[in-house]
Amino acid sequence: MDFRFTEEQEAFRNTIRDFIKRETSRELDRQLEEEGRFPFELADKMAQTELLGLAFPVEYGGVGGNVMDFIVAAEELAYGSEAACALFLGPVFFIGETIHLNGSEEQKKKYLPLIAQGKLRGAFALTEPDAGSDASAITTSAVADGDDYVINGHKTMISGADIADFIITCTKTDKESRRYEGITLLMVPGKAEGLTINKLKKLGNNIISTCEIFYDDVRVPKEAIMGGPEGLNMGWLQMINNLDIERIMISALYTAIAQRAYDDALAYAKERKQFGRPISEYQMIQQLLADMLVEIRASRLLTYHAGWLKQQGEFCSLECSIAKIHATEMAKKVTIDGMQVLGGYGYMMENDMQRYLRNAMLGTVGGGTNQIQRLIIAKLQGMM
Ligand SMILES: Cc1cc2nc3c(=O)[nH]c(=O)nc-3n(C[C@H](O)[C@H](O)[C@H](O)COP(=O)(O)OP(=O)(O)OC[C@H]3O[C@@H](n4cnc5c(N)ncnc54)[C@H](O)[C@@H]3O)c2cc1C
Repeated sequence: MDFRFTEEQEAFRNTIRDFIKRETSRELDRQLEEEGRFPFELADKMAQTELLGLAFPVEYGGVGGNVMDFIVAAEELAYGSEAACALFLGPVFFIGETIHLNGSEEQKKKYLPLIAQGKLRGAFALTEPDAGSDASAITTSAVADGDDYVINGHKTMISGADIADFIITCTKTDKESRRYEGITLLMVPGKAEGLTINKLKKLGNNIISTCEIFYDDVRVPKEAIMGGPEGLNMGWLQMINNLDIERIMISALYTAIAQRAYDDALAYAKERKQFGRPISEYQMIQQLLADMLVEIRASRLLTYHAGWLKQQGEFCSLECSIAKIHATEMAKKVTIDGMQVLGGYGYMMENDMQRYLRNAMLGTVGGGTNQIQRLIIAKLQGMM
């Protein structure tokens, strides 16, 4: 067993740290989150770090990173800069990975090099008002009409739809089929006629928007089917392809948010004096901080273990769900405890702890809720 990252991975980690130090700041995160604005201005600079092509190989303009590289990227970006993380994770990494795993050769050649250059961003539209955890209940339809498909329906809570050049849309192409069949992923241009995108108000993670989308006779050519003609009615299997990596990345992300909250709380506790002594000298504060660190370290190990298994090509859906549950529930608790360490100042918007807490609240819902993760564990352990 070797817990060390390779020299290349350490160098990659340092490249990301340098980028974050050079191009981002706490002030930038605060300003963007207050304005609810996406950091387009970072895209070109981030492209120079090779981060944007991490998920796919050189022949498509990427760098062919492995799972542990993905974890390094998620950890460093989520720790160092909410803006850089928002730019990378959803619209680039998850979308690039989806196309790399499922796209036709032609689609990979068309989309991936531009994604790696920071010139193209995507969104993924699955959720509907009546189809959340039960994603197979989607009703957005795509009906063949000559050489096209015509899409009608309503998606909601879609990350970054308003800044996306294209939206991978989950549609029902065969209404008669059973629940998990008859679903097709279609690549819909962000500016397609008949598309209406409205930004929704929310609690946190405001650097990347969350939107509802109305499809009103949106027409796309048959070439828009993810994976080419063979991709017709294969959408469910294509989505499942990504789930392990998505859960590993979410685990790394929330572990890093919690680490940042802990580091801020520790620094504050050493600085803040009450009753003539730094509050870090009081055992009740020490216990809060020690418990935060214990849980963060446990999450990190679970994340690395799931990532390592995935990299070896082993079946690891159980470990991915376990890591996702632990990291996201830990991040909520750690950021709440961080608020306590900061006392009244934690509640003030001028400190970042409230932002970490608001962002951490999403973890147990996104990427399959933690109740659904527990159902997966129950299934994999033969309880149902
Ligand atoms: C900020 C944000 C960004 C998002 N981005 C995207 C995106 O980019 N693309 C996209 O497609 N979607 C996105 N979503 C939607 C997200 O994936 C869904 O919110 C999530 O899948 C849960 O669905 P729901 O909100 O409809 O909750 P529901 O499914 O209605 O669940 C409500 C509650 O019931 C529980 N529950 C449901 N079924 C069961 C069951 N069988 N057993 C036990 N408990 C159950 C859930 O765990 C939850 O606690 C985003 C959501 C948010 C908040």
